[in-house]
Amino acid sequence: MIDTVKTLLFRSDGSVVVHECRRCGATLESADDVCPACDTEDVASFEIR
Ligand SMILES: [Zn+2]
Repeated sequence: MIDTVKTLLFRSDGSVVVHECRRCGATLESADDVCPACDTEDVASFEIR
């Protein structure tokens, strides 16, 4: 649970953006990152309010 929270990006408007690998489902810190688990750049971004 704590590890999941640390990967979330808290924006100034109060929303949270989560970046997740479309291939393996790993959570990334940035949409610009390459997935460390499967080395793909196909990353999905979700905004949570
Ligand atoms: Zn992946």
